[in-house]
Amino acid sequence: MEKLSIAERLGKVSYLNQTKTEAKPHIIVDTDICNSTCPHHCTTYVCPANCYTKDENGKVHFQFEDCIECGTCMFACDQGAVDWNYPDPEIGRGVKWNFG
Ligand code: SF4
Ligand code: SF4
Repeated sequence: MEKLSIAERLGKVSYLNQTKTEAKPHIIVDTDICNSTCPHHCTTYVCPANCYTKDENGKVHFQFEDCIECGTCMFACDQGAVDWNYPDPEIGRGVKWNFG
C-alpha cells in the first residue's frame, strides 16, 4: 500500500453524498469572535487537520474541508464561536470513512 503524508491523506477526505467541491459546511465558526474577544486562539493549536489557521497578521481563519470530525474544537472553544450542524441530516452529510 502506498504510504501517504498527513497532508495527502487529508486531501482524500470526502463527505457522504457530496463531492468535495459541493460539500456544505458542518461546522461554522464565527471568526468575528475569534478575531475580537478570544484571548487564546486555542483551536489554531489543537485541530489535528489544521482547519483553524492564523495569517501573518494574527487573524484567525477557518476552513472545514479537511475536517475529520474529531470533535476537539467543539470542546476546546470556550467562546461560543463554533456551531456544529449537519445540513440536510436526513441524507447524511458527515465525513465518509474508508473503513467504517
Ligand atoms: S477558541 Fe473559539 S473563538 Fe478562539 S479562535 Fe478558536 S474557534 Fe475562535
Ligand atoms: S472537528 Fe476536529 S478536525 Fe474538525 S475542525 Fe474541529 S478540531 Fe479540526
